[in-house]
Amino acid sequence: MTIEVRNIVKKFGTFAALDNVDLKVATGELVALLGPSGSGKTSLLRIIAGLDWPDEGSVIFDGEDALSRGAGERHVGFVFQHYALFRHMSVFENVAFGLRVQPRAIRKDEVHIRKRVKELLDLVQLDWLADRYPSQLSGGQRQRIALARALAIEPRILLLDEPFGALDAKVRKELRRWLRQLHDEIHVTSIFVTHDQEEALEVANRVVVMDKGKIEQIGTPGDVYDNPATAFVHGFIGESIVLPVQVSDGKVRLGDKVLNLEPRDAASGPSNLFIRRHDVSIVPNGSGIFEGDVKHVRAFGPTQRADVVLHNGANETLIEIDAPRDRDLKPGDVVSLQPRRYRLFPAAS
Ligand code: ATP
Repeated sequence: MTIEVRNIVKKFGTFAALDNVDLKVATGELVALLGPSGSGKTSLLRIIAGLDWPDEGSVIFDGEDALSRGAGERHVGFVFQHYALFRHMSVFENVAFGLRVQPRAIRKDEVHIRKRVKELLDLVQLDWLADRYPSQLSGGQRQRIALARALAIEPRILLLDEPFGALDAKVRKELRRWLRQLHDEIHVTSIFVTHDQEEALEVANRVVVMDKGKIEQIGTPGDVYDNPATAFVHGFIGESIVLPVQVSDGKVRLGDKVLNLEPRDAASGPSNLFIRRHDVSIVPNGSGIFEGDVKHVRAFGPTQRADVVLHNGANETLIEIDAPRDRDLKPGDVVSLQPRRYRLFPAAS
């Protein structure tokens, strides 16, 4: 089923939680809504689900208006961060629940229900837990059961709101891969909300980056990472070094130093120079676009992270760079730095 969201506005008082949002999701896609806290992700998901209504705009499923239908009539399955399974019901009964409460006209008999629940528990690879109760499950198992439960009614759309948000980092990682594989198997049109860029880039076919109730960029994980459309997207995805520079007369200046960089199509005026931290290399002295003094070095996982104060005249600018652990860096060293890639965005944005 396709989902189309057109010109959605959602206000709480005078505050616009969603400010003219447009989005199209194709059948079978797995789309991530990615943005910081308060950017409007959940508000958008709730409107698509039918749990909330917009002040303006339309929501269209397969060419038909969805807003005139309630949540129960939209054939949507949900999984929430804290989706409370029924505590007094076994795993089996939790998964069967949606099937048992279907309208009499379409409700299946007990033999069919048992067969379907078994299939779903196989799908989420937890059939061995059928007789347990939610309190006897790990957090990750609970979310997989919540997903089996959401899928029981054969929803045409699956909506997941921070489904792994409450789990620890290792389990989250496992479940990401698992969700990707599961989606490859069932191909149901899915939207999931996350504030974790790694999760969005790893799981989704397309990523919708949101900020302050607006969509900043929609693209494949590769697009949003390699070609961020806005300063916000560059700053939010990946780790960026951001330097306030001045673009004028075809030159880029940091303080009183002219950097050996092309302004490309950047407009004249105050700008921000964005460089991904991992795109910065230490090069032989004198050959990079920046020179700086190493102030502090610390081990940081497989690399070392160094604070470097750039030589750019009166204004001291401190940046953090990463270097391989085998490179002998110590406070007091002078380093020359060269970015492999960079982007300039107007400072106002
Ligand atoms: P998070 O990642 O923290 O869940 P989010 O991106 O999902 O954030 P929303 O929950 O959609 O953001 O909220 C968007 C904005 O709307 C926030 O500023 C929030 O405070 C506001 N908001 C959401 N629901 C309500 C409400 N019922 N009443 C008033 N303001 C609300």
